[in-house]
Amino acid sequence: MGKPTGFMEFGRELPASRSPLVRVKDWSEFHEHMAEKKIREQGARCMDCGTPFCHTGSLLAGAASGCPINNLIPEWNDLVYRGLWKEALDRLLKTNNFPEFTGRVCPAPCEGSCVLGINEAPVAIKTIEQEIIEKGFAEGWIRPNPPAVRSGKKVAVVGSGPAGLAAADQLNRAGHLVTVFERADRPGGLLMYGIPNMKLEKRAVVERRLRLMEEEGITFQCNTEVGKSYPADRLLKEFDAVVLSTGATKPRDLPIDGRGLKGVSYAVDFLTANTKSLLNEHTNGDYINAGGKDVIVIGGGDTGTDCVGTVMRHNCRSLIQLEILPQPPNERPSDNPWPQWPRIYRMDYGQEEAAARFGADPRRYLVTAKRFIGDERSNLSGIEIVRVEWAKDASGRLNPVPVAGSEQVLPAQLVFLAMGFLGPEDAVAGQLGVARDERSNYKAVHGRFATNIPGVFAAGDCRRGQSLVVWAINEGRGAARECDRFLSGTTSLP
Ligand SMILES: Cc1cc2nc3c(=O)[nH]c(=O)nc-3n(C[C@H](O)[C@H](O)[C@H](O)COP(=O)(O)OP(=O)(O)OC[C@H]3O[C@@H](n4cnc5c(N)ncnc54)[C@H](O)[C@@H]3O)c2cc1C
Ligand code: SF4
Repeated sequence: MGKPTGFMEFGRELPASRSPLVRVKDWSEFHEHMAEKKIREQGARCMDCGTPFCHTGSLLAGAASGCPINNLIPEWNDLVYRGLWKEALDRLLKTNNFPEFTGRVCPAPCEGSCVLGINEAPVAIKTIEQEIIEKGFAEGWIRPNPPAVRSGKKVAVVGSGPAGLAAADQLNRAGHLVTVFERADRPGGLLMYGIPNMKLEKRAVVERRLRLMEEEGITFQCNTEVGKSYPADRLLKEFDAVVLSTGATKPRDLPIDGRGLKGVSYAVDFLTANTKSLLNEHTNGDYINAGGKDVIVIGGGDTGTDCVGTVMRHNCRSLIQLEILPQPPNERPSDNPWPQWPRIYRMDYGQEEAAARFGADPRRYLVTAKRFIGDERSNLSGIEIVRVEWAKDASGRLNPVPVAGSEQVLPAQLVFLAMGFLGPEDAVAGQLGVARDERSNYKAVHGRFATNIPGVFAAGDCRRGQSLVVWAINEGRGAARECDRFLSGTTSLP
Protein backbone atom coordinates (compact mmCIF):
# COMPACT_ATOMS: atom_id res chain seq x y z
CA MET A 1 0.00 0.00 0.00
CA GLY A 2 1.61 3.21 -1.22
CA LYS A 3 0.22 5.94 0.95
CA PRO A 4 -1.52 4.97 4.19
CA THR A 5 -3.24 8.34 4.44
CA GLY A 6 -4.07 8.65 0.72
CA PHE A 7 -7.80 8.02 1.14
CA MET A 8 -7.99 10.80 3.73
CA GLU A 9 -5.95 13.30 1.72
CA PHE A 10 -7.49 12.89 -1.73
CA GLY A 11 -11.11 12.75 -2.82
CA ARG A 12 -12.34 10.60 -5.70
CA GLU A 13 -11.81 12.31 -9.03
CA LEU A 14 -12.73 11.15 -12.51
CA PRO A 15 -11.56 12.49 -15.85
CA ALA A 16 -13.60 15.46 -17.01
CA SER A 17 -16.17 14.79 -19.73
CA ARG A 18 -16.56 17.14 -22.63
CA SER A 19 -19.63 19.33 -22.23
CA PRO A 20 -22.76 17.43 -23.36
CA LEU A 21 -23.86 20.16 -25.78
CA VAL A 22 -20.43 20.20 -27.41
CA ARG A 23 -19.81 16.48 -27.63
CA VAL A 24 -23.16 15.72 -29.30
CA LYS A 25 -21.78 17.53 -32.33
CA ASP A 26 -19.29 14.74 -33.04
CA TRP A 27 -18.72 11.00 -32.60
CA SER A 28 -15.47 11.15 -30.64
CA GLU A 29 -15.08 9.73 -27.15
CA PHE A 30 -16.39 12.05 -24.49
CA HIS A 31 -13.94 11.44 -21.62
CA GLU A 32 -10.73 13.41 -21.42
CA HIS A 33 -7.51 12.09 -19.95
CA MET A 34 -6.35 13.01 -16.47
CA ALA A 35 -2.94 14.41 -15.62
CA GLU A 36 -0.50 11.77 -14.37
CA LYS A 37 -0.23 13.41 -10.94
CA LYS A 38 -4.00 13.13 -10.51
CA ILE A 39 -4.05 9.47 -11.51
CA ARG A 40 -1.30 8.69 -9.03
CA GLU A 41 -3.30 10.41 -6.28
CA GLN A 42 -6.27 8.26 -7.18
CA GLY A 43 -4.05 5.17 -6.88
CA ALA A 44 -2.97 6.44 -3.46
CA ARG A 45 -6.60 6.32 -2.27
CA CYS A 46 -6.51 2.49 -2.35
CA MET A 47 -6.08 1.21 1.20
CA ASP A 48 -4.95 -2.28 0.12
CA CYS A 49 -7.49 -3.47 2.68
CA GLY A 50 -6.84 -6.86 4.26
CA THR A 51 -9.68 -8.51 2.36
CA PRO A 52 -10.07 -6.66 -0.93
CA PHE A 53 -13.52 -7.38 -2.30
CA CYS A 54 -12.84 -5.40 -5.48
CA HIS A 55 -11.23 -8.35 -7.25
CA THR A 56 -13.49 -11.19 -6.10
CA GLY A 57 -15.89 -11.33 -9.07
CA SER A 58 -18.54 -13.29 -7.21
CA LEU A 59 -22.23 -13.20 -8.00
CA LEU A 60 -24.29 -11.59 -5.25
CA ALA A 61 -28.04 -11.08 -5.63
CA GLY A 62 -27.74 -11.86 -9.35
CA ALA A 63 -25.06 -9.28 -10.17
CA ALA A 64 -21.27 -9.23 -10.17
CA SER A 65 -19.64 -8.05 -6.99
CA GLY A 66 -15.99 -7.31 -7.64
CA CYS A 67 -14.09 -7.74 -10.87
CA PRO A 68 -15.22 -10.80 -12.88
CA ILE A 69 -11.71 -11.29 -14.29
CA ASN A 70 -10.10 -10.91 -10.85
CA ASN A 71 -7.90 -8.00 -11.83
CA LEU A 72 -5.12 -7.52 -9.26
CA ILE A 73 -6.47 -4.09 -8.39
CA PRO A 74 -4.75 -3.22 -5.09
CA GLU A 75 -1.40 -4.25 -6.62
CA TRP A 76 -1.66 -1.98 -9.64
CA ASN A 77 -3.16 0.87 -7.65
CA ASP A 78 -0.07 0.82 -5.49
CA LEU A 79 2.29 0.58 -8.48
CA VAL A 80 0.58 3.51 -10.17
CA TYR A 81 0.84 5.58 -7.00
CA ARG A 82 4.58 4.86 -6.97
CA GLY A 83 4.90 5.75 -10.66
CA LEU A 84 5.84 2.16 -11.65
CA TRP A 85 3.63 2.14 -14.73
CA LYS A 86 5.35 -0.67 -16.61
CA GLU A 87 5.05 -2.95 -13.59
CA ALA A 88 1.40 -1.94 -13.21
CA LEU A 89 0.83 -2.84 -16.86
CA ASP A 90 2.43 -6.25 -16.40
CA ARG A 91 0.11 -6.96 -13.46
CA LEU A 92 -2.94 -5.74 -15.38
CA LEU A 93 -2.20 -7.90 -18.42
CA LYS A 94 -1.96 -11.01 -16.27
CA THR A 95 -5.74 -11.07 -15.91
CA ASN A 96 -7.16 -8.83 -18.64
CA ASN A 97 -6.50 -9.22 -22.37
CA PHE A 98 -8.25 -5.97 -23.24
CA PRO A 99 -8.10 -3.30 -20.49
CA GLU A 100 -8.63 -0.62 -23.12
CA PHE A 101 -12.17 -2.00 -23.63
CA THR A 102 -13.11 -2.57 -19.99
CA GLY A 103 -11.43 0.70 -18.95
CA ARG A 104 -13.95 2.44 -21.19
CA VAL A 105 -17.19 0.44 -21.08
CA CYS A 106 -17.18 -1.70 -17.95
CA PRO A 107 -19.82 -0.68 -15.39
CA ALA A 108 -17.06 -1.34 -12.81
CA PRO A 109 -18.54 -3.80 -10.32
CA CYS A 110 -15.10 -3.54 -8.67
CA GLU A 111 -15.96 -0.03 -7.55
CA GLY A 112 -19.34 -1.16 -6.20
CA SER A 113 -17.51 -3.51 -3.81
CA CYS A 114 -14.51 -1.29 -2.97
CA VAL A 115 -14.12 -1.25 0.83
CA LEU A 116 -13.60 2.50 0.75
CA GLY A 117 -17.08 2.67 -0.78
CA ILE A 118 -18.68 1.65 2.54
CA ASN A 119 -18.45 5.18 3.86
CA GLU A 120 -16.57 7.17 1.17
CA ALA A 121 -16.51 7.43 -2.60
CA PRO A 122 -14.77 4.31 -3.99
CA VAL A 123 -11.36 4.27 -5.65
CA ALA A 124 -11.52 5.28 -9.34
CA ILE A 125 -10.42 1.79 -10.40
CA LYS A 126 -11.78 1.82 -13.95
CA THR A 127 -10.10 5.15 -14.73
CA ILE A 128 -6.77 3.89 -13.42
CA GLU A 129 -7.13 0.73 -15.52
CA GLN A 130 -7.68 2.73 -18.68
CA GLU A 131 -4.74 5.03 -17.94
CA ILE A 132 -2.37 2.09 -17.36
CA ILE A 133 -3.15 0.47 -20.72
CA GLU A 134 -3.11 3.77 -22.63
CA LYS A 135 0.28 4.55 -21.11
CA GLY A 136 1.41 1.10 -22.26
CA PHE A 137 0.41 1.87 -25.84
CA ALA A 138 1.79 5.41 -25.73
CA GLU A 139 5.16 4.27 -24.38
CA GLY A 140 5.43 1.51 -27.00
CA TRP A 141 5.44 -1.22 -24.32
CA ILE A 142 2.68 -3.09 -26.13
CA ARG A 143 4.10 -4.75 -29.18
CA PRO A 144 3.17 -7.87 -31.13
CA ASN A 145 4.32 -10.90 -29.16
CA PRO A 146 3.66 -14.02 -31.26
CA PRO A 147 4.26 -17.41 -29.61
CA ALA A 148 7.79 -18.78 -29.94
CA VAL A 149 6.57 -22.31 -30.70
CA ARG A 150 3.49 -23.52 -32.56
CA SER A 151 1.63 -26.62 -31.35
CA GLY A 152 0.48 -27.72 -34.80
CA LYS A 153 -3.16 -27.69 -33.62
CA LYS A 154 -5.83 -25.58 -35.30
CA VAL A 155 -8.72 -23.94 -33.46
CA ALA A 156 -11.79 -22.23 -34.93
CA VAL A 157 -13.41 -19.46 -32.91
CA VAL A 158 -16.91 -18.58 -34.13
CA GLY A 159 -17.82 -14.96 -33.37
CA SER A 160 -15.37 -12.12 -32.76
CA GLY A 161 -16.90 -10.26 -29.81
CA PRO A 162 -14.94 -9.91 -26.57
CA ALA A 163 -15.46 -13.59 -25.68
CA GLY A 164 -14.14 -14.81 -29.04
CA LEU A 165 -11.28 -12.31 -29.02
CA ALA A 166 -10.20 -13.30 -25.50
CA ALA A 167 -10.37 -17.01 -26.40
CA ALA A 168 -8.40 -16.41 -29.61
CA ASP A 169 -5.76 -14.34 -27.80
CA GLN A 170 -5.22 -16.97 -25.12
CA LEU A 171 -5.19 -19.94 -27.52
CA ASN A 172 -2.72 -18.15 -29.76
CA ARG A 173 -0.44 -17.57 -26.78
CA ALA A 174 -0.60 -21.31 -26.10
CA GLY A 175 0.78 -21.82 -29.61
CA HIS A 176 -2.35 -22.99 -31.41
CA LEU A 177 -3.21 -21.60 -34.84
CA VAL A 178 -6.44 -19.69 -34.47
CA THR A 179 -8.96 -18.67 -37.12
CA VAL A 180 -11.79 -16.39 -35.99
CA PHE A 181 -14.93 -16.60 -38.13
CA GLU A 182 -17.12 -13.51 -38.18
CA ARG A 183 -20.22 -12.92 -40.26
CA ALA A 184 -19.96 -9.13 -40.13
CA ASP A 185 -17.62 -7.22 -42.41
CA ARG A 186 -15.41 -6.22 -39.47
CA PRO A 187 -14.39 -8.18 -36.36
CA GLY A 188 -15.17 -7.05 -32.81
CA GLY A 189 -18.77 -8.17 -32.21
CA LEU A 190 -20.65 -5.63 -30.12
CA LEU A 191 -17.37 -3.80 -29.45
CA MET A 192 -17.42 -2.85 -33.12
CA TYR A 193 -21.11 -2.85 -34.01
CA GLY A 194 -23.31 -2.19 -30.97
CA ILE A 195 -21.42 -0.01 -28.50
CA PRO A 196 -21.15 3.33 -30.33
CA ASN A 197 -18.00 5.19 -31.28
CA MET A 198 -18.33 7.94 -28.66
CA LYS A 199 -18.08 5.29 -25.93
CA LEU A 200 -15.44 3.12 -27.59
CA GLU A 201 -13.56 4.42 -30.60
CA LYS A 202 -13.45 1.92 -33.42
CA ARG A 203 -10.36 2.93 -35.33
CA ALA A 204 -8.19 4.26 -32.50
CA VAL A 205 -9.05 1.57 -29.94
CA VAL A 206 -10.85 -1.51 -31.32
CA GLU A 207 -8.90 -1.77 -34.59
CA ARG A 208 -5.63 -1.06 -32.77
CA ARG A 209 -6.15 -4.27 -30.79
CA LEU A 210 -7.35 -6.26 -33.81
CA ARG A 211 -4.22 -5.29 -35.74
CA LEU A 212 -2.05 -6.42 -32.87
CA MET A 213 -3.80 -9.78 -32.75
CA GLU A 214 -3.33 -10.24 -36.49
CA GLU A 215 0.35 -9.40 -36.15
CA GLU A 216 0.59 -12.08 -33.49
CA GLY A 217 -0.71 -14.68 -35.93
CA ILE A 218 -4.49 -14.81 -35.50
CA THR A 219 -6.52 -15.01 -38.72
CA PHE A 220 -9.84 -13.17 -38.97
CA GLN A 221 -12.19 -14.53 -41.59
CA CYS A 222 -14.97 -11.93 -41.91
CA ASN A 223 -18.12 -12.03 -44.06
CA THR A 224 -18.36 -15.72 -43.18
CA GLU A 225 -21.50 -16.91 -41.44
CA VAL A 226 -20.99 -20.31 -39.89
CA GLY A 227 -24.14 -22.32 -40.42
CA LYS A 228 -24.87 -20.51 -43.70
CA SER A 229 -21.95 -19.63 -45.98
CA TYR A 230 -19.73 -22.06 -44.04
CA PRO A 231 -21.44 -25.28 -42.86
CA ALA A 232 -20.90 -25.71 -39.12
CA ASP A 233 -19.98 -29.40 -39.34
CA ARG A 234 -17.10 -28.50 -41.66
CA LEU A 235 -15.44 -26.93 -38.61
CA LEU A 236 -15.20 -30.33 -36.97
CA LYS A 237 -13.37 -31.73 -40.01
CA GLU A 238 -10.99 -28.83 -40.57
CA PHE A 239 -10.10 -27.87 -36.99
CA ASP A 240 -8.91 -29.75 -33.91
CA ALA A 241 -11.26 -27.79 -31.62
CA VAL A 242 -13.96 -25.14 -31.82
CA VAL A 243 -14.94 -22.29 -29.48
CA LEU A 244 -18.44 -20.92 -30.02
CA SER A 245 -18.78 -17.26 -29.03
CA THR A 246 -21.67 -16.20 -31.21
CA GLY A 247 -23.30 -13.84 -28.70
CA ALA A 248 -26.94 -13.49 -27.66
CA THR A 249 -28.10 -11.99 -30.90
CA LYS A 250 -31.87 -12.59 -30.85
CA PRO A 251 -33.44 -9.28 -29.78
CA ARG A 252 -36.61 -9.30 -27.66
CA ASP A 253 -39.57 -8.11 -29.74
CA LEU A 254 -42.64 -6.10 -28.74
CA PRO A 255 -45.49 -7.71 -30.68
CA ILE A 256 -48.16 -5.06 -30.11
CA ASP A 257 -50.48 -3.41 -32.66
CA GLY A 258 -48.55 -1.53 -35.32
CA ARG A 259 -45.26 -3.41 -34.84
CA GLY A 260 -44.93 -3.70 -38.63
CA LEU A 261 -45.07 0.08 -39.22
CA LYS A 262 -42.14 1.77 -40.94
CA GLY A 263 -40.12 3.49 -38.23
CA VAL A 264 -40.11 0.73 -35.58
CA SER A 265 -36.69 -0.96 -35.44
CA TYR A 266 -34.49 -3.08 -33.22
CA ALA A 267 -31.94 -0.95 -31.40
CA VAL A 268 -28.95 -3.07 -32.39
CA ASP A 269 -29.84 -2.89 -36.09
CA PHE A 270 -30.00 0.89 -35.78
CA LEU A 271 -26.71 1.14 -33.88
CA THR A 272 -24.92 -1.27 -36.22
CA ALA A 273 -25.95 0.58 -39.37
CA ASN A 274 -25.00 3.89 -37.78
CA THR A 275 -21.48 2.78 -36.88
CA LYS A 276 -20.98 1.05 -40.22
CA SER A 277 -22.02 4.17 -42.00
CA LEU A 278 -19.86 6.34 -39.73
CA LEU A 279 -16.81 4.18 -40.51
CA ASN A 280 -17.61 4.70 -44.19
CA GLU A 281 -17.67 8.49 -43.53
CA HIS A 282 -21.50 8.47 -43.67
CA THR A 283 -21.20 8.39 -47.44
CA ASN A 284 -23.44 5.40 -48.11
CA GLY A 285 -26.47 6.95 -46.33
CA ASP A 286 -27.49 3.42 -45.40
CA TYR A 287 -28.61 4.17 -41.85
CA ILE A 288 -31.62 5.64 -40.09
CA ASN A 289 -31.09 9.35 -39.50
CA ALA A 290 -33.10 10.61 -36.52
CA GLY A 291 -32.44 14.27 -37.40
CA GLY A 292 -35.59 16.37 -36.87
CA LYS A 293 -37.64 13.35 -35.69
CA ASP A 294 -39.57 12.59 -32.53
CA VAL A 295 -37.89 9.50 -31.09
CA ILE A 296 -38.98 6.96 -28.50
CA VAL A 297 -36.48 4.48 -27.10
CA ILE A 298 -38.06 1.51 -25.34
CA GLY A 299 -35.75 0.02 -22.72
CA GLY A 300 -33.53 1.59 -20.10
CA GLY A 301 -30.29 -0.44 -20.25
CA ASP A 302 -26.96 0.15 -22.02
CA THR A 303 -28.51 -0.47 -25.42
CA GLY A 304 -31.23 2.11 -24.80
CA THR A 305 -28.67 4.63 -23.57
CA ASP A 306 -26.59 4.11 -26.70
CA CYS A 307 -29.66 4.80 -28.85
CA VAL A 308 -30.23 8.00 -26.83
CA GLY A 309 -26.61 9.11 -27.38
CA THR A 310 -26.85 8.30 -31.08
CA VAL A 311 -30.11 10.15 -31.80
CA MET A 312 -28.77 13.12 -29.84
CA ARG A 313 -25.89 13.25 -32.33
CA HIS A 314 -28.40 13.10 -35.18
CA ASN A 315 -30.12 16.13 -33.64
CA CYS A 316 -33.52 14.56 -33.06
CA ARG A 317 -36.47 16.89 -32.41
CA SER A 318 -37.66 15.23 -29.20
CA LEU A 319 -36.69 12.17 -27.23
CA ILE A 320 -38.36 9.97 -24.61
CA GLN A 321 -36.98 6.76 -23.15
CA LEU A 322 -39.52 4.35 -21.69
CA GLU A 323 -38.66 2.15 -18.74
CA ILE A 324 -41.10 -0.36 -17.31
CA LEU A 325 -39.32 -0.56 -13.93
CA PRO A 326 -39.57 2.05 -11.17
CA GLN A 327 -36.91 4.76 -10.85
CA PRO A 328 -34.12 3.40 -8.63
CA PRO A 329 -33.35 5.20 -5.36
CA ASN A 330 -30.48 7.70 -5.10
CA GLU A 331 -28.80 5.76 -2.30
CA ARG A 332 -28.45 2.03 -1.70
CA PRO A 333 -31.68 0.69 -0.14
CA SER A 334 -31.34 -1.59 2.90
CA ASP A 335 -31.87 -4.75 0.81
CA ASN A 336 -28.96 -3.84 -1.50
CA PRO A 337 -26.03 -3.50 0.90
CA TRP A 338 -22.32 -3.22 0.11
CA PRO A 339 -20.56 -5.19 -1.46
CA GLN A 340 -23.47 -5.92 -3.82
CA TRP A 341 -23.66 -4.02 -7.10
CA PRO A 342 -25.45 -0.77 -6.13
CA ARG A 343 -28.86 -0.63 -7.81
CA ILE A 344 -29.13 3.14 -7.68
CA TYR A 345 -30.23 5.94 -9.99
CA ARG A 346 -27.51 7.01 -12.41
CA MET A 347 -27.40 9.46 -15.29
CA ASP A 348 -25.43 7.85 -18.10
CA TYR A 349 -23.82 9.84 -20.89
CA GLY A 350 -26.85 9.72 -23.20
CA GLN A 351 -29.29 10.91 -20.56
CA GLU A 352 -26.88 13.70 -19.58
CA GLU A 353 -26.83 14.88 -23.17
CA ALA A 354 -30.61 14.74 -23.51
CA ALA A 355 -31.04 16.60 -20.21
CA ALA A 356 -28.63 19.31 -21.35
CA ARG A 357 -30.60 19.85 -24.54
CA PHE A 358 -34.20 19.20 -23.48
CA GLY A 359 -33.98 20.20 -19.80
CA ALA A 360 -34.66 16.83 -18.13
CA ASP A 361 -33.66 13.17 -17.99
CA PRO A 362 -35.52 11.61 -20.97
CA ARG A 363 -36.48 8.47 -19.02
CA ARG A 364 -40.07 7.87 -18.02
CA TYR A 365 -40.38 5.13 -15.44
CA LEU A 366 -43.22 2.68 -14.84
CA VAL A 367 -44.60 2.98 -18.36
CA THR A 368 -45.01 0.59 -21.25
CA ALA A 369 -46.07 0.84 -24.87
CA LYS A 370 -49.63 -0.21 -25.70
CA ARG A 371 -49.69 0.24 -29.47
CA PHE A 372 -47.87 1.92 -32.31
CA ILE A 373 -49.92 4.33 -34.43
CA GLY A 374 -49.39 4.79 -38.16
CA ASP A 375 -50.49 7.04 -40.99
CA GLU A 376 -52.18 6.00 -44.21
CA ARG A 377 -48.79 5.06 -45.72
CA SER A 378 -47.90 2.74 -42.84
CA ASN A 379 -45.38 5.19 -41.47
CA LEU A 380 -45.15 5.40 -37.69
CA SER A 381 -46.70 8.62 -36.42
CA GLY A 382 -47.17 8.00 -32.70
CA ILE A 383 -47.20 5.62 -29.80
CA GLU A 384 -49.76 4.99 -27.09
CA ILE A 385 -48.21 4.42 -23.69
CA VAL A 386 -49.73 3.48 -20.39
CA ARG A 387 -48.56 3.63 -16.78
CA VAL A 388 -48.03 0.34 -14.95
CA GLU A 389 -47.96 -0.81 -11.36
CA TRP A 390 -46.10 -3.92 -10.27
CA ALA A 391 -48.39 -6.38 -8.51
CA LYS A 392 -47.97 -9.98 -7.36
CA ASP A 393 -49.99 -12.68 -9.13
CA ALA A 394 -51.41 -15.82 -7.49
CA SER A 395 -47.99 -17.52 -7.59
CA GLY A 396 -46.34 -14.51 -5.90
CA ARG A 397 -44.60 -13.32 -9.07
CA LEU A 398 -44.42 -9.59 -9.70
CA ASN A 399 -46.01 -8.47 -12.97
CA PRO A 400 -46.59 -5.03 -14.53
CA VAL A 401 -50.30 -4.20 -14.50
CA PRO A 402 -51.54 -1.32 -16.73
CA VAL A 403 -53.24 1.51 -14.82
CA ALA A 404 -56.67 2.09 -16.42
CA GLY A 405 -57.16 5.63 -17.71
CA SER A 406 -53.45 6.50 -17.71
CA GLU A 407 -53.04 6.08 -21.49
CA GLN A 408 -51.25 8.84 -23.36
CA VAL A 409 -50.38 9.29 -27.05
CA LEU A 410 -46.94 10.65 -27.91
CA PRO A 411 -45.77 11.74 -31.34
CA ALA A 412 -43.10 9.45 -32.79
CA GLN A 413 -41.64 8.88 -36.21
CA LEU A 414 -38.97 6.53 -34.86
CA VAL A 415 -39.09 3.88 -32.15
CA PHE A 416 -36.12 1.77 -31.12
CA LEU A 417 -36.69 -1.49 -29.27
CA ALA A 418 -33.96 -2.00 -26.68
CA MET A 419 -35.55 -4.56 -24.40
CA GLY A 420 -32.81 -7.15 -24.19
CA PHE A 421 -31.89 -10.35 -25.99
CA LEU A 422 -33.21 -13.89 -25.99
CA GLY A 423 -30.10 -15.98 -26.58
CA PRO A 424 -28.09 -17.24 -29.55
CA GLU A 425 -29.51 -18.03 -32.97
CA ASP A 426 -30.26 -21.63 -33.95
CA ALA A 427 -28.20 -22.56 -37.03
CA VAL A 428 -24.78 -23.26 -35.50
CA ALA A 429 -26.04 -25.29 -32.55
CA GLY A 430 -28.50 -27.13 -34.80
CA GLN A 431 -25.88 -28.18 -37.35
CA LEU A 432 -23.33 -29.21 -34.71
CA GLY A 433 -25.87 -30.90 -32.42
CA VAL A 434 -24.91 -28.66 -29.47
CA ALA A 435 -27.40 -28.99 -26.59
CA ARG A 436 -29.18 -25.86 -25.30
CA ASP A 437 -30.26 -25.00 -21.77
CA GLU A 438 -33.75 -23.96 -20.67
CA ARG A 439 -33.07 -20.35 -21.73
CA SER A 440 -31.88 -21.57 -25.18
CA ASN A 441 -28.22 -20.74 -24.49
CA TYR A 442 -25.52 -23.22 -25.49
CA LYS A 443 -25.32 -25.68 -22.63
CA ALA A 444 -21.91 -25.74 -20.94
CA VAL A 445 -20.95 -25.36 -17.29
CA HIS A 446 -19.09 -22.15 -16.33
CA GLY A 447 -15.52 -23.10 -15.52
CA ARG A 448 -15.50 -26.06 -17.93
CA PHE A 449 -17.16 -24.44 -20.95
CA ALA A 450 -17.37 -27.83 -22.73
CA THR A 451 -20.56 -28.51 -24.71
CA ASN A 452 -21.94 -32.00 -25.25
CA ILE A 453 -19.90 -32.27 -28.47
CA PRO A 454 -16.28 -33.29 -27.77
CA GLY A 455 -13.86 -30.52 -28.71
CA VAL A 456 -16.59 -27.85 -28.93
CA PHE A 457 -16.59 -25.16 -26.22
CA ALA A 458 -18.91 -22.20 -25.62
CA ALA A 459 -18.18 -18.79 -24.09
CA GLY A 460 -19.76 -15.38 -23.60
CA ASP A 461 -23.32 -14.23 -24.14
CA CYS A 462 -24.19 -17.36 -26.18
CA ARG A 463 -23.53 -19.44 -23.04
CA ARG A 464 -24.45 -17.17 -20.11
CA GLY A 465 -27.08 -14.99 -21.81
CA GLN A 466 -26.89 -11.26 -22.41
CA SER A 467 -24.24 -9.86 -20.08
CA LEU A 468 -21.16 -7.62 -19.98
CA VAL A 469 -17.88 -7.25 -21.84
CA VAL A 470 -15.94 -8.18 -18.71
CA TRP A 471 -17.87 -11.44 -18.32
CA ALA A 472 -17.28 -12.22 -21.99
CA ILE A 473 -13.54 -11.83 -21.39
CA ASN A 474 -13.77 -14.03 -18.31
CA GLU A 475 -15.55 -16.73 -20.35
CA GLY A 476 -13.27 -16.47 -23.40
CA ARG A 477 -10.22 -16.94 -21.18
CA GLY A 478 -11.81 -19.87 -19.38
CA ALA A 479 -12.94 -21.58 -22.59
CA ALA A 480 -9.42 -21.16 -24.03
CA ARG A 481 -7.92 -22.78 -20.93
CA GLU A 482 -10.25 -25.78 -21.20
CA CYS A 483 -9.78 -26.00 -24.96
CA ASP A 484 -5.99 -26.00 -24.49
CA ARG A 485 -6.35 -28.77 -21.90
CA PHE A 486 -8.44 -30.76 -24.42
CA LEU A 487 -5.82 -30.27 -27.16
CA SER A 488 -2.65 -30.68 -25.10
CA GLY A 489 -3.71 -32.93 -22.22
CA THR A 490 -2.58 -30.21 -19.82
CA THR A 491 -2.59 -26.41 -19.76
CA SER A 492 -0.62 -23.53 -18.36
CA LEU A 493 -3.26 -20.96 -19.32
CA PRO A 494 -4.82 -19.23 -16.27
C1 LIG B 1 -25.83 -1.70 -27.66
C2 LIG B 1 -25.12 -2.45 -26.60
C3 LIG B 1 -24.34 -1.75 -25.71
C4 LIG B 1 -23.64 -2.43 -24.72
N1 LIG B 1 -22.88 -1.70 -23.87
C5 LIG B 1 -22.14 -2.36 -22.94
C6 LIG B 1 -21.31 -1.64 -22.06
O1 LIG B 1 -21.26 -0.41 -22.09
N2 LIG B 1 -20.56 -2.33 -21.18
C7 LIG B 1 -20.58 -3.70 -21.12
O2 LIG B 1 -19.84 -4.29 -20.32
N3 LIG B 1 -21.39 -4.41 -21.92
C8 LIG B 1 -22.17 -3.77 -22.82
N4 LIG B 1 -22.99 -4.49 -23.65
C9 LIG B 1 -22.98 -5.95 -23.56
C10 LIG B 1 -21.73 -6.53 -24.23
O3 LIG B 1 -21.48 -5.84 -25.44
C11 LIG B 1 -21.88 -8.02 -24.48
O4 LIG B 1 -22.15 -8.66 -23.25
C12 LIG B 1 -20.61 -8.62 -25.06
O5 LIG B 1 -20.26 -7.99 -26.26
C13 LIG B 1 -20.80 -10.12 -25.33
O6 LIG B 1 -19.66 -10.60 -25.96
P1 LIG B 1 -19.71 -11.92 -26.87
O7 LIG B 1 -18.34 -12.07 -27.40
O8 LIG B 1 -20.28 -13.03 -26.09
O9 LIG B 1 -20.75 -11.61 -28.03
P2 LIG B 1 -20.88 -10.45 -29.11
O10 LIG B 1 -20.13 -9.25 -28.74
O11 LIG B 1 -22.35 -10.33 -29.34
O12 LIG B 1 -20.21 -11.06 -30.41
C14 LIG B 1 -20.75 -12.17 -31.08
C15 LIG B 1 -20.25 -12.14 -32.51
O13 LIG B 1 -20.58 -13.39 -33.13
C16 LIG B 1 -20.93 -13.13 -34.48
N5 LIG B 1 -21.70 -14.26 -34.96
C17 LIG B 1 -22.90 -14.70 -34.50
N6 LIG B 1 -23.28 -15.80 -35.18
C18 LIG B 1 -22.31 -16.07 -36.08
C19 LIG B 1 -22.12 -17.07 -37.05
N7 LIG B 1 -23.04 -18.03 -37.23
N8 LIG B 1 -21.00 -17.06 -37.82
C20 LIG B 1 -20.05 -16.07 -37.63
N9 LIG B 1 -20.19 -15.09 -36.72
C21 LIG B 1 -21.29 -15.09 -35.94
C22 LIG B 1 -21.71 -11.85 -34.39
O14 LIG B 1 -21.77 -11.21 -35.65
C23 LIG B 1 -20.90 -11.07 -33.38
O15 LIG B 1 -19.89 -10.33 -34.01
C24 LIG B 1 -23.74 -3.84 -24.63
C25 LIG B 1 -24.55 -4.54 -25.50
C26 LIG B 1 -25.24 -3.85 -26.48
C27 LIG B 1 -26.13 -4.62 -27.40
S1 SF4 C 1 -12.62 -4.96 -15.72
FE1 SF4 C 1 -14.38 -3.83 -14.86
S2 SF4 C 1 -14.67 -4.78 -12.85
FE2 SF4 C 1 -12.60 -5.37 -13.53
S3 SF4 C 1 -11.23 -3.78 -12.69
FE3 SF4 C 1 -11.79 -3.12 -14.75
S4 SF4 C 1 -13.57 -1.76 -14.44
FE4 SF4 C 1 -13.33 -2.98 -12.57
